[in-house]
Amino acid sequence: MPPSLEGGAERLRVVEHFHSLQGEGVHAGRSALFIRLAGCNVRCSWCDTKHSWAAAAHPLCSVEQLVAAVRESSPSMVVITGGEPLEQNLDRLCTALAPLNVPRHLETSGVEPLSGAFEWITLSPKRHRQPRWQLLACCHELKVVVHEHEDLLFADTMAAACQAAAGNRPHLCLQPGEGSAAAAELATNHVLKHRQWRLSLQTHKWLGLR
Ligand code: SF4
Repeated sequence: MPPSLEGGAERLRVVEHFHSLQGEGVHAGRSALFIRLAGCNVRCSWCDTKHSWAAAAHPLCSVEQLVAAVRESSPSMVVITGGEPLEQNLDRLCTALAPLNVPRHLETSGVEPLSGAFEWITLSPKRHRQPRWQLLACCHELKVVVHEHEDLLFADTMAAACQAAAGNRPHLCLQPGEGSAAAAELATNHVLKHRQWRLSLQTHKWLGLR
């Protein structure tokens, strides 16, 4: 974690914030207030939040407004997601959230420098934009989206890179690409053969949740 939480943006470009269940990963099924930040230059072809990419298309929202939304929802965690949330400086937001004692979770591709302080970091690296060592070293959960066999090789490489980076051993999740039976089969078979991995499914989509 960065030693200083000074500075950071007082207002952030925000796509939306909403209270729902965390649908995927290690914390699936838990009550979460999501803050979806605007802006992403990673540009994955299969992205399901492409509307978040153009940061300037979304309104500025004050840190105080976001803190109030978390306080009102009383969730078990607040999930800062995107877009790529680290394209904006999160120091001030995280400092303002700290007194609420609601665990702060971050979902990131890991291509930008870390800002803010988090109790949980989910790193979802992409083959075409490899993550920074800093995020490999401190993530708690490594979640790799699987579309084809090469993604499984990439997933194992990223897990090894985490361990090489300060001996980090995050929870390991494989998540099949949306709507692909072949991807689900690939991910499932990999988990069956390699017990350190677990399957992550987008359960919120089954339930029709945001
Ligand atoms: Fe979409 Fe995430 Fe890829 Fe950005 S990093 S393009 S938000 S899937």
